[in-house]
Amino acid sequence: MDLIVQKFGGTSLSDDQSRRHVLRHIIREHEAGNSLVIVVSAMGRSGEPYATDSLLHLVQLNGNSLPARERDLLLSCGELISASVLCSLLNTEGIPSVTLTGGQAGILTDDRFGSARITEIKTERIHKHLSEGLVVIVTGFQGMTSEGEITTLGRGGSDTSATALGAALSAKVVDIYTDVDGILTADPRWVSNARPLSSVSYEEICNMAQNGAKVIHPRAVEIAMKAGIPVRVRSTFSDSEGTLVTHAQALRNQGIWHDRTVTGLAHVRHVTQLGVVNHNGPADLQLKVFRAMASHGISVDFINVMPTGVHYTVSENDTHKAIHLLHELGFEPHVREGCAKVSVIGGGMNGEPGVMAIIVEALSDSGIPILQSADSNTTIWVLISEEDLAKALQALHTAFGLHLA
Ligand code: ADP
Ligand code: ASP
Ligand code: MG
Repeated sequence: MDLIVQKFGGTSLSDDQSRRHVLRHIIREHEAGNSLVIVVSAMGRSGEPYATDSLLHLVQLNGNSLPARERDLLLSCGELISASVLCSLLNTEGIPSVTLTGGQAGILTDDRFGSARITEIKTERIHKHLSEGLVVIVTGFQGMTSEGEITTLGRGGSDTSATALGAALSAKVVDIYTDVDGILTADPRWVSNARPLSSVSYEEICNMAQNGAKVIHPRAVEIAMKAGIPVRVRSTFSDSEGTLVTHAQALRNQGIWHDRTVTGLAHVRHVTQLGVVNHNGPADLQLKVFRAMASHGISVDFINVMPTGVHYTVSENDTHKAIHLLHELGFEPHVREGCAKVSVIGGGMNGEPGVMAIIVEALSDSGIPILQSADSNTTIWVLISEEDLAKALQALHTAFGLHLA
């Protein structure tokens, strides 16, 4: 008997109609004789009654005065509601199930409330229920400290719950059900002709997720990769198999490896570019700037260090703090708000000439200035103005032929 972990995201559980589709996938795998662990997210998206953002909104009205521990207690309720509703639906179908909180499922974490890390999963209770023939429903996005405190794993963390459970239980596969047909060549909300990829390597999707592709949490991919558990990202609303994510070598062995220069695009919005120039010759500017950012918890990206100064980016939320710190150091930074970082990602671009030339040509033909760029052996990043984002993504998508099957 195979064990499968199925994870259902917020939009898959938002109303009765979508929950019927969820049921369909559970019933299919149950009738095929698989043992099932189901991980659920909170229902719906911002504005809907039990969504994580709606729970957060309840306390934002009070000026965010809730301590981190209590905030996690509040946020954990969304997944609990989803799990209970799913349990009642399975009962009506005659499928016996049990609902467990993250802690009850044995998911232990450290005590970083709001962004806890899973330290261990004690699987005895899940195994016991599976051996009793029950479908085990686990609330995603949450765990418990060794002191019994409820923690949450960071936004989008139900994916992490799913792959961590898959790894701990040596699942045959972890199926991440969502509202799109798999991992697409770009975010379909920005590129209308983005196309589903039939397979990608862990490295490729990890790269896309770390660069803003919200379809799966990067930590979830890291956990699956380490354990070598295959993941399928697929739609709740269709029967398509979606995108298979596994090791590149496993894809090669199965004859389904795609040798492509560029796999997809990802982007991050709400970025501010900061430039600090040193007019007084080389000094300790670089050290002063980055020490100040680090000691105030400001994460920096897109760093260019030159003898004459530094350029880097921070997120929109950190802009004012960063400028204030630079002023305190006696610098007058050049500030460009409203930027977006676009990533062109592909495991096959390593050593392949001409990729940057295609990017520059596509953007300049569309009249889009590149404000900064950087590259690694699998990714090229460009910083552009956020108002050019839709045009830039579409131009790059076409230039690399990502719309073609
Ligand atoms: P869930 O609630 O199921 O976890 P999310 O909203 O977290 O769903 O993730 C799914 C969304 O990710 C899609 O609706 C899509 O807009 C977005 N997305 C961003 N980049 C990609 C991509 N490359 N492929 C597929 N979806 C993407
Ligand atoms: N409900 C949580 C969130 O909205 C976790 C998740 O959806 O994965 O961030
Ligand atoms: Mg998600």
